[in-house]
Amino acid sequence: MHFHIVTLFPESFNSYLEASILKRAISNKKIKVSFYNPITFLKTKERVDDKPYGGGPGMVMRAEPVARAISKAIGKKTDYKIIFFTPSGEKFTNTRAKEYVEQTKNIVFVCGRYEGIDARILEMFPCEKVSIGDYVLTGGELPAMIMIDAISRNIKGVLGDMDSVEENRISSPLVYTRPEVLKYKAKNYKVPDVLLSGHHKEIDRWREEQK
Ligand code: SAH
Repeated sequence: MHFHIVTLFPESFNSYLEASILKRAISNKKIKVSFYNPITFLKTKERVDDKPYGGGPGMVMRAEPVARAISKAIGKKTDYKIIFFTPSGEKFTNTRAKEYVEQTKNIVFVCGRYEGIDARILEMFPCEKVSIGDYVLTGGELPAMIMIDAISRNIKGVLGDMDSVEENRISSPLVYTRPEVLKYKAKNYKVPDVLLSGHHKEIDRWREEQK
């Protein structure tokens, strides 16, 4: 999967992509991440943002530099999806994460800043409007990072053991590791007995109940 990120702040992705599972996925060539900064697509004297029509506070990202960045990301590809981030978009889910893995090899994330991006981008390109949750963030960079993370763990070979993908086993929101009895500040914290019982049916039932 090749993730293409249109963003004014590519540096904000570094620390997360350079750690743990995503870092390994990139070096094992399971995923690739490329950046397209609208700033670098500005013509002389153009600016990246401007005042909103209709008035109101804040600035709006201009369509042209964003459009040029998206066109660059698409290139000659025919197999791609474009995600336009907005808090009023369709809510991103794990089901969608799995569908993207099956449906495409290229995802272009269009990250807004300030009051957002000139809405005519939606007329210029086939976009899916996506929200990652019912809150407003200062930019689309975290939403892109979250989608890269959730999508990547559904790509074969990204997690060490495919069994780690939740859907392939009975997972639980409550997990425990050694020691069996944890002593902390004069109190004992025990692992639930059922997990030590060795009865796999009962363990599965207990895990289902915790969901
Ligand atoms: N004025 C806009 C909000 C802009 S927030 C409105 O009322 O809809 C700035 C940018 O952050 C957005 O363009 C979008 O790219 C991103 N963003 C903020 N919250 C988000 C969310 N919940 N999901 C996805 N993207 C979000």
